[in-house]
Amino acid sequence: MARVTVESLRKEYDTGSVVAVNDLDLEIEDGEFVTVVGPSGCGKTTTLRMLSGLEQPTDGRIKIGGEDVTDVHAKDRDVAMVFQNYALYPHKTVFENMEFGLRMSTDMGETERERRVVEAAEMMDIEDLLEDNPDELSGGQKQRVALGRAIVREPDLFLFDEPLSNLDAKLRTSMRAEIQRLQNALQITAVYVTHDQHEAMTMGDRIVILDGGELQQQGRPTEVYKNPVNEFVGGFIGSPSMNFVDVGVETSGSRVHLTGPDGVFQFDLSASYINDRKDALDSNRHTLGVRPEDVELATEGAANIITATIDVVEPVGSDNFLYLDVNDEFIARVDSNADLDPGDRVTITFDETDIHLFDTETGRNVFASKRDAPTVTT
Ligand code: ADP
Ligand code: MG
Repeated sequence: MARVTVESLRKEYDTGSVVAVNDLDLEIEDGEFVTVVGPSGCGKTTTLRMLSGLEQPTDGRIKIGGEDVTDVHAKDRDVAMVFQNYALYPHKTVFENMEFGLRMSTDMGETERERRVVEAAEMMDIEDLLEDNPDELSGGQKQRVALGRAIVREPDLFLFDEPLSNLDAKLRTSMRAEIQRLQNALQITAVYVTHDQHEAMTMGDRIVILDGGELQQQGRPTEVYKNPVNEFVGGFIGSPSMNFVDVGVETSGSRVHLTGPDGVFQFDLSASYINDRKDALDSNRHTLGVRPEDVELATEGAANIITATIDVVEPVGSDNFLYLDVNDEFIARVDSNADLDPGDRVTITFDETDIHLFDTETGRNVFASKRDAPTVTT
């Protein structure tokens, strides 16, 4: 059981020319399942390796269970890590692979080691594979062994580095559920790294988003989805990605009027919506963000519409994604019963409460503080 605290954590490589992690602060509750997500190279693995003790920070502190472990060697931390490539010893059996860590880093007796391995194997449903070698196993089975090996340690902290990336989509889905079930049952604090925002959203009690080695936002998955603090988070979370359009902003009386590029659309924000948000609009240009699922087909005579031509219709079952010729590309998610084809002209609209306005220069969401409660939690 452990609470994890990361304070001003920094990691430089190549004598400071690469800053992999920059001034990272995190507070992870005992028993919490936190997902860390961001594009390739954003510092996820480096962060995990510093938590595990495999990598020494350039600066900052790490505490696990109240103890400052910054200078504690990896083998002396109660931490178990699961990797994408399984990292099993090829010439050891499954049993030996699972037992090895206990044998090397504890003075546990043989009977207790065996009891732990058999119990973990049962939990992972691999008790029939204990005498096999890794090369006799499928990818999914190997990952189960790697998970089993992490469980036998009964660690204070689980660290997962993209553990499911080598599995096919169907297996990935079932292993996701399995890892969550396991963590729920064992109540061990977990940090799970992935580049896949869907995986991060569905698995995490809380999601931490990194870019360029820096914390962008953390919060419950729905909070982050509804209230991204900047354009990067807005675009990274959600699939297909949020649509972005540069707009001119004109204030007339108590209303605000948005104009799309080349006058492609006109959009009025009502006085009641603008209300106390007006001060945040400190420039006459902003980037408007709207999610495909918040776009709808407009009824005749509706205000605030965009007229566009359909480039592509992509069916995904209950819905269709319409790729529209607004601003190069603009995606709308509409009911698949709408009988629409490429080349058709459509009018679309969205609710003012579903839009996001970003500072075009800094990317900051100008209304973020005016929406729900702040998403930065500790
Ligand atoms: P992620 O896991 O998010 O893809 P990493 O933590 O592996 O990202 O890498 C973060 C940055 O640090 C990248 O720019 C990467 O090239 C750099 N980096 C990682 N490990 C090393 C290393 N051992 N030496 C030099 N640069 C590294
Ligand atoms: Mg990585």
